[in-house]
Amino acid sequence: MNYHVMTLFPDMITNAMSESITGRALKAGYLALEAVNIRDFADNKHNRVDDYPYGGGAGMVMQAEPVYRCYEDIMTRIREQGGSAAAKVIYLTPQGKVFDQQMAKEYAKEEDLIFLCGHYEGIDERALENIVTDYVSIGDYVLTGGELPAMVVIDTVSRLVPGVLNNEESAETESFSDGLLEYPQYTRPADYNGKAVPEVLLSGHHANIEKWRHEKSLERTRKFRPDLYEAYIKEHPEESR
Ligand code: SAM
Repeated sequence: MNYHVMTLFPDMITNAMSESITGRALKAGYLALEAVNIRDFADNKHNRVDDYPYGGGAGMVMQAEPVYRCYEDIMTRIREQGGSAAAKVIYLTPQGKVFDQQMAKEYAKEEDLIFLCGHYEGIDERALENIVTDYVSIGDYVLTGGELPAMVVIDTVSRLVPGVLNNEESAETESFSDGLLEYPQYTRPADYNGKAVPEVLLSGHHANIEKWRHEKSLERTRKFRPDLYEAYIKEHPEESR
């Protein structure tokens, strides 16, 4: 998986992504990441890439041309490396479709993903119309820039790229993988300040453990995410309780 991030703050992306599991996967070559500074494509000596909004109003707007040139630069590299000329361009915006695990699964099938991070009041609409294929939000709130949202998407997608997680970190049984939240987890000691680990987990009886975990998943999903629970029960009416 090759990530290309268009941003005014490339260090934010490369610093955070070089840590932990994504950092290990980058070093091992399961992932590749370039953070390209949109400012490098400014056409003035002060490297300015924003201007006042037409029609007035607060804040500044990122100009179309530097964004478009940055995109062209990335696409040239993708083509040279034999990648798809139809690579998806994801604009992180509070106005987009709210990101979820299903979208992450779809993105994990791509070879190249291009992310566009806005700042200030956003980006000139004409640049977006020219290059963006997907408008993605990470939730109904407004951040200062698209860098954290881009990293949320990259981190989530990366966990689904083969080789990125090792066996102990498997993504298969996690929350949302089967439409339910994950069961509670415990580790040593078996007794923590008088609170014992549920007996069944110490029994070594795999069928009983699976049954207990599934029941707990159902229980928590019903409690914390009734919307998910309803959807699951529609698919599995025999499990209704
Ligand atoms: N004026 C814009 C609006 O009302 O839709 C918000 C601009 S926001 C201050 C600056 C940038 O942060 C956006 O261009 C976008 O890239 C990013 N951003 C902010 N909130 C986001 C969210 N919830 N999901 C994804 N990106 C977000």
